[in-house]
Amino acid sequence: MENKILVGASSCLLGNSVRYDGGHKHDRYLTDILANYFQFITVCPEVECGLPVPRETMRLIGDPEKPRLVTTRSGIDHTDRMLSFCKQKVSQLESEDLCAFIFKKDSPSSGLHKVKVYGESGQAQKKGRGLFAATLVDRFPLLPVEEEGRLKDPVLRENFIEKVFCYKRWKTFLQEDPDYKKLIDFHTCHKLQLMAHSPKLASKMGKLVAAGKTTPKEELLEEYQLNLMEALALKATIKKNVNVLYHINGHFKKLITGDEKAELIQLINNYAHSLVPLIVPLTLINHYIRKYNIAYLQNQTYLEPHPSELMLRNHA
Ligand code: SF4
Repeated sequence: MENKILVGASSCLLGNSVRYDGGHKHDRYLTDILANYFQFITVCPEVECGLPVPRETMRLIGDPEKPRLVTTRSGIDHTDRMLSFCKQKVSQLESEDLCAFIFKKDSPSSGLHKVKVYGESGQAQKKGRGLFAATLVDRFPLLPVEEEGRLKDPVLRENFIEKVFCYKRWKTFLQEDPDYKKLIDFHTCHKLQLMAHSPKLASKMGKLVAAGKTTPKEELLEEYQLNLMEALALKATIKKNVNVLYHINGHFKKLITGDEKAELIQLINNYAHSLVPLIVPLTLINHYIRKYNIAYLQNQTYLEPHPSELMLRNHA
C-alpha cells in the first residue's frame, strides 16, 4: 500500500524493549499484518516521561475517575510527571494525520479499558483507564482506538479496522475542502456500510445531508462527522448485514435470472445461520455487480471497506 495510514501504538507492542522488566509484548498481528497498511508511530509513556528501563512496577490508586499513578513497592507518585508528558505528547500528535491508536491492555499508563484501580483497602476495581490513554481519548474523542487484546476477537477486529479505513477516507475528504455535492457523493458511497452498523443513524444522516444545502458548511460537516463515527462504533451484526444483503438483492431483482436469485438467497440464508462467512454471499454479489454493471452498487464502500487481503470477513 503506497500511502499507509498513520496509526499510534504502544511501543512495547511493536517489539521495543521498554517494559518495566526490560521486555516487550511484541504483537505479530501488528507488525506482520497491519504494518502492510498502517505506518505506526510508537509511544511508551513511561519511558518517554523519563522513567528508566527496567523500573519498578506502577499501579493506579484512588478515584477511578481521577486515579494517581504510584510505584507498587515504594509508593512514589508519578502522576504529575506522567500527566505533564501526556499533555505535551497529545499536543505534538495534533499536527500528525493520526487515524487510530492501538493500546497495550491492562497498563496503568496505556490500558484503555478496565484497568485496575486500587482503593485504600488494597482491593482493585477494574474501572480505570491508563493515564496516557485517557488523555489521548479526551483530546481526540472521534479517533478509533482499541486494545491489542480485543483485536483477537474477529468481530471487534473487523469493526476497528473498518473504522480506521473509513476515518482515513473522511479525513482525506475533509482535506480536499469538500462542497455540498461532494458530501452527497461521500454519503451515497457509504450508505450501505452505514446501514450495516446502524440503519437508524444511516437514515438520520441521509436526512441531514438532504436538508443540508442551506446549513453552514462547517456545521453540516461537524454534525455528519459525529454521526459517522457514532454509527461506525456500533457493531455490524449478522442481522444488520443480512438486512443490507437483502437490500442489495433488491437492486438485482429485475436483472438476474431466477436461478441466480435462488443461489444468492440461499447464500444469504446460510450466512444468516452462521454456516458461511460474510465473504461468501459478498463474492457472489460482486460477481453480479460486475456482470450486470450496476453503477450504484459498484461504488459502495460496504463491498470492500478494507483490503480483502486482511481477510476480515472470512470468519463464520
Ligand atoms: S507504558 Fe505502555 S508502551 Fe510503555 S511498556 Fe507500558 S504498556 Fe508498553
